[in-house]
Amino acid sequence: MKVTDRVLRMKESSTLAVAARAAALKREGADVVAFGTGEPDFDTPANIKDAAARALQAGQTKYVLTPGTPEARAAIAAKLRDENGIQCRPEHVSITAGAKHALYLVLQTLVEPGDDVVLPTPAWVSYRPLIELAGGRCIEVPCAMERGFKLTPAELEAAMTPRTVAVIFNSPSNPCGIAYSPDEVKALCEVVARHPKAAIVSDEIYEKLTYPEVCPGLRHFSPASIPAMAERTITLNGMSKAFAMTGWRIGYVCAPGMGGRFIQELVKLQAQMTNNIPSFFMPAIVEALSARSAPQVEAMRVEFARRAAIVGGLVAAIPRFRSVQPTGAFYSFPSIAACKGLTSPGGRAITDGQSFAEALLAEVHVALVPGGDFGDCAADHVRITFASDEATLRKGMSRIAEFTAALR
Ligand code: PMP
Ligand code: GLU
Repeated sequence: MKVTDRVLRMKESSTLAVAARAAALKREGADVVAFGTGEPDFDTPANIKDAAARALQAGQTKYVLTPGTPEARAAIAAKLRDENGIQCRPEHVSITAGAKHALYLVLQTLVEPGDDVVLPTPAWVSYRPLIELAGGRCIEVPCAMERGFKLTPAELEAAMTPRTVAVIFNSPSNPCGIAYSPDEVKALCEVVARHPKAAIVSDEIYEKLTYPEVCPGLRHFSPASIPAMAERTITLNGMSKAFAMTGWRIGYVCAPGMGGRFIQELVKLQAQMTNNIPSFFMPAIVEALSARSAPQVEAMRVEFARRAAIVGGLVAAIPRFRSVQPTGAFYSFPSIAACKGLTSPGGRAITDGQSFAEALLAEVHVALVPGGDFGDCAADHVRITFASDEATLRKGMSRIAEFTAALR
């Protein structure tokens, strides 16, 4: 027996690996503060759970069409039209096993070996491995923290090549915790519009988690709502973050391009691979996207905005960190560069984000994700996830502050 090179070469998901290490320490009895994995601490709203339970009890237990039931696809298409201004039809939507599965299907359908995919970094850990699995060349474009981790049109233009088939765009961003303004998105789309072979893959999983409370006037904007980009933008989203449904594994992709051919080919791959997601989740998707869930989604957003302000302040108060104020998603991504060359109270040398995170977990039991897997430019960063209640956030942040101050 053997393992293929392409799987051997692939890195493990460090976001999930940190969660596993924190859980193992907890099982050994340690008082671990888990700021690793990005998942809401809230439970799924009851009306959504009830919709799935009712469907299960009523016997909705058989296969349905691979991309989902007509009702669930129609609910998603209506949401994308009404909330995001994306002109699409239910046939342009496929419901997948999480946005991660949607990303896999999109890259396998879009990228030939040798094609270039532009990835503004720091970026979520799974993009690069999945681009490379499809045979693509991942063109990282480092985005400076001093400019709010935002890609500029000039940087994007310089990264585009005749072989560029896709630009990955993720706003609000994991791990940067920032969101682009509508004008900033439009300026980037103008660059892509000049390169007719390139598509935008817009990962909007954190769209609901945008905080005008900390950045007045900020709002989410979808590239596919720009008429010139509508055909060439593939929009990814899902239920995990906005609806606190990470464990359900529900994502979706909307791709109106090529007169509907692109999504048909993608669904062909999905049909050979996983077929439909659990059929009794379909009514839960319709329920989640109904007006009944909106107040609960907004209540979670308001709480995340409050935490963004708290954590932003606590991170900024650590003299050896440099950071930007989070304005979206639930991440702060400080640079720990000023800690390099120092030694922890337990005698560990701090050489980068990885050694910082390892020492922090071992010595004060706070789990963070080291920055390196978010991009080559991010090795001296760590990601702090603020998807915990305020007391836990304050406890973890004061441990981080004390640990950092004690480095010599
Ligand atoms: N995109 C981004 C930017 C993410 O942070 C995540 C992590 N959950 C995903 C996609 C995938 O989400 P899921 O598979 O849970 O829908
Ligand atoms: N996306 C979340 C994170 O970055 C969940 C874990 C994962 O799928 O990577 O922590």
